[in-house]
Amino acid sequence: MRLNKYIAHAGIASRRKADELTINGNVKINGLTMREPGYNVKPGDVVEVNGQRISGQEKMEYVLLNKPKGYITSMQDEKGRPVVTELVADVDARLFPVGRLDYNTSGMLILTNDGDLTYRLTHPRHQVTKTYRALVSGVLSKEKLFRLRKGVDIGGFVTSPAQVKIIRQAERSAVVDITIHEGKNRQVRKMFAAVGNPVQELQRTAIGDLRLGRLKEGHYRKLTRNEIEYLK
Ligand code: URA
Repeated sequence: MRLNKYIAHAGIASRRKADELTINGNVKINGLTMREPGYNVKPGDVVEVNGQRISGQEKMEYVLLNKPKGYITSMQDEKGRPVVTELVADVDARLFPVGRLDYNTSGMLILTNDGDLTYRLTHPRHQVTKTYRALVSGVLSKEKLFRLRKGVDIGGFVTSPAQVKIIRQAERSAVVDITIHEGKNRQVRKMFAAVGNPVQELQRTAIGDLRLGRLKEGHYRKLTRNEIEYLK
């Protein structure tokens, strides 16, 4: 098995992160530093990451968290702000978040120690849809809806077609459901800003066919076997 895959299997990091760890000299095979992410791990090889021996056999855990606002989607924050992994501290595995939600975005976040799944779900090629409910300022005219659906320029990148549905239009704000295929940094906020309707509140409600449902903010549940199979 390729070294980066082996490290991902052990739940240490995604494959991409495993590549970084390897190139940076944090990985040893049989006591010697190995900087080649493509190294083929053989039966009997002793693999160490940051001085800790790992095995490719760790139990995989999959958690769905309703992230509250005010949490960083990371395993640690150098400024000491709350991080999402604190909310699932009682799961007996080193979980890492799949993709990112902004500090001020709430909603559905998957955490797992399955680096392969993380790789697949975050790779642009796989185009897993993500649905958000947004509270935006102002009136969303038909013309703006058309632009959002067709694709808008968010600064050097034109978004691909999106599904956009107005749930409620008030005099000075609107509640909108939007489903996108890409995952550019702050994409939904940038899309609404591009048409002049800044986002006030943002919640992710679905990843593909998986729904957040009634899970309370700050709470999590383990994914069912069917849900895991669906994501794979
Ligand atoms: N788009 C955003 O603007 N923010 C998120 O957190 C996720 C998608």
